[in-house]
Parts: sequence; structure tokens; C-alpha cells
Amino acid sequence: MSFPKIIIDIEKIRSNAHYIAEYGKQFGVEIMGITKGVCAISSVVEAFRQGGVRKFGDSRLHNIKEMRNAGFQEPIYMIRLPMLSEAEEVVCWADGSMNSEVETIKKLSEKANLYNKQHKVILMVDFGDLREGILPDDILSTVGEIITLPNIEFEGLAINQGCIGGTIPNLESMQLLSVLGQDIEKLYGINVNVLSGGSTATLNLLDKNFSSLKINQLRVGEAILLGQDTTNARIISGTSRDTLTLQTEVIEVKKKSSCPRGQIGRDAFGNIPVFADRGIIRRAIVGIGLQDCRIDSLTPADDGINILGASSDHLVLDVTSSPEVKLGSIIEFRMTYSAMLGLMTSKYVSKECI
Ligand SMILES: *Cc1c(COP(=O)(O)O)cnc(C)c1O
Repeated sequence: MSFPKIIIDIEKIRSNAHYIAEYGKQFGVEIMGITKGVCAISSVVEAFRQGGVRKFGDSRLHNIKEMRNAGFQEPIYMIRLPMLSEAEEVVCWADGSMNSEVETIKKLSEKANLYNKQHKVILMVDFGDLREGILPDDILSTVGEIITLPNIEFEGLAINQGCIGGTIPNLESMQLLSVLGQDIEKLYGINVNVLSGGSTATLNLLDKNFSSLKINQLRVGEAILLGQDTTNARIISGTSRDTLTLQTEVIEVKKKSSCPRGQIGRDAFGNIPVFADRGIIRRAIVGIGLQDCRIDSLTPADDGINILGASSDHLVLDVTSSPEVKLGSIIEFRMTYSAMLGLMTSKYVSKECI
């Protein structure tokens, strides 16, 4: 079995999916399971499904095709704005998509018409996180433009927070989304079937007088995959966090100085490294590096081990307090969402489901 390797505990992910799906149900909120964090590998998508998730979303067309080819029948949404150049494939492979550009929706309409398909459109609203989305003042006119388009079903609105701007979802933004939904229904006499209140970062609002609002969907990845909510810096009780573990193999162990010798220039990535002088320490190198993931997003499972630095393919550890570490030892790490993205995408990291 080759290293580095990521071990995926399918039962824990199934149980997390079940917990989150049931939790949402309690508040009348459907959970769209977001699969991009694990590149939508089928064993994990199946774990979501077995946990009770009945709708999927992914940001990459490639992953959506793989889910379809693996035989998943549930509705699948393209949650990143489709590119004009992929409109044709988006209507062929996905049931719906998140959008913010009328021109793109026109293209989706044209292609859906060509293939005689109905494509569902959810409009992204930007309440200030400043990633994608239509500004609230422009929502009504945008809806007016798209409800006349053939083969397009306007399904509702979605909000995204905690992404680029780091804004924390609050009841006020949920209220604004609800009101926008009502305004659309009044003005155009249509139903707004989906009000999607955000991601994992919105879960903690569900028990805060949420039911007075009309929000009926959340798009959740991190809470199911890692049992945590990075935006609000919290652990989600009721879920497991040890779902994914990285295993790496030691390729060198030597006693060396804690400080580099020689004139200091820049490291392999242009930074000037700084090391405290702690005399001679025991250093181990494992075979993984920055080509695979952001190293500062890894945490050694053994608290006695510290990360000293990394280059493209080498990760250097201080193993002074872990004398059992030797050449060929396997060192385990926990990971954040960003490390998971990198590791799952890296073709150099093998994936094993248990
Ligand atoms: C990634 C993503 C999500 C899921 O976010 P989590 O923090 O993993 O729950 C939801 N919506 C959109 C648009 C996304 O890109």
C-alpha cells in the first residue's frame, strides 16, 4: 500500500450525514450535501446518501459527471457559477445551478432548449461577503428577466457567507433573504421554492428562532466531512471529527541542529525562514509536501511531534519527544478543510476507504 495515504472512515461520514440531515429536518431545512471537499468520490457520496442526504451539490462539472456515471439518481446542482463555455454540459449533467449573470442563464436556457431539458436556476444573492452574487437591489429585476426564459425554472435564492469576506451568517441576513423571497412572490405571482441560507457556517442559527423565517435549505460539506465549522471556529457536537486521517512515511531520521548553518537567503518558496536555536534535535522527514497540500493545515496526531517546515515534496518534523519514530514509521495527521481539498485532489496521495 503506497504512502502518503488518506484514510476515509465511511461509517463516521455516514453517521455525520445522518446527524446533519435529521438536524435540518427538525427545523424544516433540507440539506444539500456538498461533495467537492472529497472530489465527490462515490463511496463518500454513497455515505451521504445512506445518511439521508437526498440532493447533492458540487462546484466542479468533472465531479458531477463522475457522480452521474456512478449511477446516483438524486438531483445534483452545480454550485459554482457555470462558465459560459460549459453551459451545454451543465444542462446535460446537472439538474440545476447557482447563478448570478443573466447572460449565462440565457445561454443555459438556449442549451436546455436544444436538449429539451428543464434547468433549475437558483440566484445567488450577495449580502456583503463579496464573492459571487447579485446585489439585493438588483434581485427583483433579474428575476423578471429570467422567468420568461424557455426551459429555465427559477427555483429560488441562495446566500453565501464566510467565504471570501469571512462574514458570519446572522439572523439579519436570513431575514433579508426571506423578505426578498416574499417580494418576488408578491411581484411576480410565482412560488419561490428554495431559500438556501448558506453552508456549514449557518447551521448554528437553526435553533435561534429560525423557524419564523422561510429558509428551507442549507448546503453542507464541512460539517459532514470534518465535523467542524471553520467560519465560526467551532466543533459540531453530535458529529465525529476523526473522519479523515493522513498517513505519511518517514524517509529520514537524524539528530541535527535546530538552526540552519550558513548565510540565510530565502527558502524554496521565497520566504525568509526563522528558527529558534534549541541545540541538537531529532528530525524526521516524511514524504509529502506543498505540492500536495498546505502544510500549515496539517496537525500531527501525536502532540509530541512538531512541524518544522516543508518544501514541495518533503515535510520536516521535530520528533525529539517521540523516540519510537524511526525510518519507515508511519506518521499520522489530522487536517483542515483546505488540506483535505489539496490531499483529495493530489494524484500522489492514495485514498483508502474503511
Ligand atoms: C463549498 C460550498 C458550500 C459548502 O460549504 P461548507 O463550508 O463545506 O459547508 C456551500 N455553498 C457553496 C456555493 C460552496 O461553494
